[in-house]
Amino acid sequence: MTECIFCKIAAGQIPSDKVYEDDELLAFHDIKPWAPIHFLIIPKAHIVSMAHVGSEHAALLGRIMTLAPRLALEQGCQPYPEGGFRIVVNTGKHGGQEVHHLHVHVLGGPRPWVHG
Ligand code: AMP
Ligand code: ZN
Repeated sequence: MTECIFCKIAAGQIPSDKVYEDDELLAFHDIKPWAPIHFLIIPKAHIVSMAHVGSEHAALLGRIMTLAPRLALEQGCQPYPEGGFRIVVNTGKHGGQEVHHLHVHVLGGPRPWVHG
């Protein structure tokens, strides 16, 4: 039984406010948003961090990065260049990572933001 909170969310054992789901990926709103639009994209498979990815994850990461702009617009981010969004992947202690299951923050909406 995993103790990883994002594995539990991916398995449906902890509820989340879902933005998107397929076989490999899940996106859900951040519980403590820093910006008017703030959601996370995670692989359902447990990958600890960006420091743990290898060439075998290239396609999965590509899928996350191409999904992000699509979901950002769907969630209300205004189009580039006046609008746009920020993608953040905190990695390790110095990188500010608190949940040790790879997740991509997608942030957007009018400023000011809470931080960032
Ligand atoms: P990080 O510092 O990059 O590891 O960020 C972890 C993020 O996960 C934070 O922004 C938290 O607010 C968010 N988070 C933690 N638990 C949950 C949860 N149960 N549902 C949604 N977001 C969460
Ligand atoms: Zn996990």
